[in-house]
Amino acid sequence: MEQRAPSTGIKVIIVGAGFAGLTAAIECYRKGHDVVILESFPELKPLGDIISFGPNAGRIAARWGNGSVVEEIFPLVIRNKELRFYKYDGEFITAQQVPPQNPEAPFLNGHRGEIHEVFFNHAKKIGIDIRLGCRVLEYLEERGRAGVRVNGETIWGDVVVGADGVRSKARELVLGYYDKPKSSGYAIYRAWFDSAPLLKDPLTKHLVENGDTHTGWLGPDVHFLAASLKNGKDFSWVCTHRDEADIEESWSYPGKIEDALKVIEGWDPVVRRIVELTPECVDWKLVYRDPLPTWISKEARTCLVGDAAHPFLPTSIQGASQAMEDGCVLAACLQIGGKENVPMAVRAYEKIRYERVRRAQLLGEETRDMWHKADFDKVKQDPEKIKLKREDWLFAFDCEANTYEVYEDVVKELSGQPTTNIGESLPKQAAVAA
Ligand SMILES: Cc1cc2nc3c(=O)[nH]c(=O)nc-3n(C[C@H](O)[C@H](O)[C@H](O)COP(=O)(O)OP(=O)(O)OC[C@H]3O[C@@H](n4cnc5c(N)ncnc54)[C@H](O)[C@@H]3O)c2cc1C
Repeated sequence: MEQRAPSTGIKVIIVGAGFAGLTAAIECYRKGHDVVILESFPELKPLGDIISFGPNAGRIAARWGNGSVVEEIFPLVIRNKELRFYKYDGEFITAQQVPPQNPEAPFLNGHRGEIHEVFFNHAKKIGIDIRLGCRVLEYLEERGRAGVRVNGETIWGDVVVGADGVRSKARELVLGYYDKPKSSGYAIYRAWFDSAPLLKDPLTKHLVENGDTHTGWLGPDVHFLAASLKNGKDFSWVCTHRDEADIEESWSYPGKIEDALKVIEGWDPVVRRIVELTPECVDWKLVYRDPLPTWISKEARTCLVGDAAHPFLPTSIQGASQAMEDGCVLAACLQIGGKENVPMAVRAYEKIRYERVRRAQLLGEETRDMWHKADFDKVKQDPEKIKLKREDWLFAFDCEANTYEVYEDVVKELSGQPTTNIGESLPKQAAVAA
């Protein structure tokens, strides 16, 4: 069912069963570590709407269950041939062709909850100990071990992985202070619904009647992306816009259709009709965070992965992918390092990941600005200016193979160095949002 390397005897405690936690767990299992996942939600619910995994992450999932995991996801994901771009008033700009799927490193864009369920079920099927209803209240660390307090019990392991999302509690132990989010100045209305009403309407029918489509409308400081999936049966849209509200961090709050319509006042009637026909939407405030100076604790036995370490702007289209890469690299580092060298393996994990993640984070701001500040006269002359970048350094990367390749050199570099904040040695970048 799943290939597994010989046992390393390393006990890994993972907090959080999102994409970061599940990937870390499956990869740790594959590398021969003993894993337990502690997750606060009491039962699995297919929450969320559209989420994207680049080929760099698809490559990780494609190795699971001899390819069976990705086979199960394929019917759930969008199968469009192109991404069509329009100016906000409805003028067609350009179509960006979608490269053919590579089964060894596929793009996976679909419903977050549905893909999450496939990951979760696979982890359960291979026998990973997933304990639901377990909210970790405290992270502990002593020389030689790390642990958590949960449901009145203390559980110790060789390493604790904080995969606990944007509101990470593990982050407090790692940083030594509470990292307060700020308003980013942007929010997103988002929706997912059955496309039947769109099929009946002459203005929107073309988006769903002939299989899957993906369309973007760009305006000053606003963009609107719409996708039809499952042969046009499901429909999803997201609209990123200015919003100064500073509310408590969450992935979603109920939104109002009339508010979303105000944001696209005067836009292409097709966009307006999509929103008018939407039964409900969520209002996702993008809070702002400075990049963390480090993702690992002083003793290097507690580390952060995924959103806990590095929240992403959705326009990077890499948040979930980088969360998966984290888990894959960490598991490989622990395997190469072995039980006697857990802290060095954890430091190597951070060193291998940090700069790559920062580079991917920056794409979020680049893409947002490219769309929100588009000069349409220039774009008409050169439509390449608004196409999504699909660069090899990001997509063609095999994070697992790279870890085996660079681990020894990284350890040599780290040996003798104190565990300082890695972020201090790198150039500053603008903050990111979640
Ligand atoms: C319910 C939900 C819906 C989302 N919907 C979308 C979406 O539609 N589109 C999109 O692009 N992104 C969505 N996201 C965000 C997206 O999943 C992440 O940005 C990305 O996948 C990185 O995942 P992660 O595992 O690092 O974090 P998350 O997916 O946030 O997972 C963190 C997990 O940790 C658990 N947790 C937190 N604190 C504790 C604790 N103290 N003890 C135990 N468990 C804890 C949480 O319950 C959660 O399951 C959603 C996230 C969530 C939680």
